[in-house]
Amino acid sequence: MEQQIKITRTSNSGLQHIDFDNIPLGTVFTDHMFVCDYQNGNWQNPRIEPLQMIPTHPAAMALHYGQAIFEGMKATVGQDKTPLLFRPEENAKRFNHSAVRMGMPTVPETLFVEAVKQIVGVEHNWIPPQDGSALYLRPFMYADEPFIGMRAATSYKFIVICSPAGPFFTKKIRLYAETEFIRAADGGTGEAKAAGNYAAAILPTEKAKAKGYDQVLWLDANEHKYVQEVGTMNIFFKVSGKFITPSTSGSILKGITRDSVITLLKDKGFEVEERPITIDEVIQFSKEGKLEEAFGTGTAVAIAMVEAIGYKDEVITLPTDNPVSQDMKTTLDDIKTQKQEDKHGWIIPV
Ligand code: PMP
Repeated sequence: MEQQIKITRTSNSGLQHIDFDNIPLGTVFTDHMFVCDYQNGNWQNPRIEPLQMIPTHPAAMALHYGQAIFEGMKATVGQDKTPLLFRPEENAKRFNHSAVRMGMPTVPETLFVEAVKQIVGVEHNWIPPQDGSALYLRPFMYADEPFIGMRAATSYKFIVICSPAGPFFTKKIRLYAETEFIRAADGGTGEAKAAGNYAAAILPTEKAKAKGYDQVLWLDANEHKYVQEVGTMNIFFKVSGKFITPSTSGSILKGITRDSVITLLKDKGFEVEERPITIDEVIQFSKEGKLEEAFGTGTAVAIAMVEAIGYKDEVITLPTDNPVSQDMKTTLDDIKTQKQEDKHGWIIPV
């Protein structure tokens, strides 16, 4: 990297207060953060400094016009305790794809990966050693220029913060196929990891929870019949021995776990179809006894097995046995902790 990352360490670490066997979700942050400023057309002053508040002007454009994007990734430790990242260059590419869609500047991929590596290097003692635990990394960018008016901002901040995460809940999930609200439309921002997409998902998710479901199964914006994704995960169905996952049509976030699982399923000899699939087909497969498994894929949980899907007045229940879903979860976890061979070169040591 052309620019050196300046590191200022805290003299007051919070590490000794952390009980790694009992980490509350999303509320504990490590001692440091990476910060870089975009001004006058350049990324400047990359630095790692003690985690602190960031003074924000009340006219900061992200607060008004929503130029804000993020990524989610995890650092794990290998068998020899080396900190490891999983396909970080894919997160860098997706971050820039999101940036372009939201009219924001891209970050050189080398800067993104170096920022993530160096913050993980500084915070490596915060990576929880327990099986299934990891240090969750949250790179994000937002417009901090104070300006009232509709145009792209000229100044931004790119920041990476880290939060230790215990083994994610592995309870099976109940999905509610949403026919009133949509997540994303063709030509919209669904393929970007833009903050506003998540804001728009909050109300439908709350409503689904009130009906006794865990997550929303999003359908397409035009006809409300094609399955898109689920909550903050992509979705796979096992039908008569082969897998079907919706093709990423432009309104679906291209999950890195999704891509990895397609490769792993093919490695294990499964056929994987990436194609449009309707909710009626899913219900029909279930009624004919052909729907064998369904699972969501995402960085947070890796694999979330589906127990039931509600659609209009019907609820379909999936078989209780999920051998391939379970195998995918174990395989991903094992690759990320070097218990299984990393045949595809996905693991990057820090
Ligand atoms: N869809 C959405 C809307 C998401 O927020 C995520 C999480 N990033 C995913 C799918 C899964 O993506 P990944 O496997 O890269 O975490």
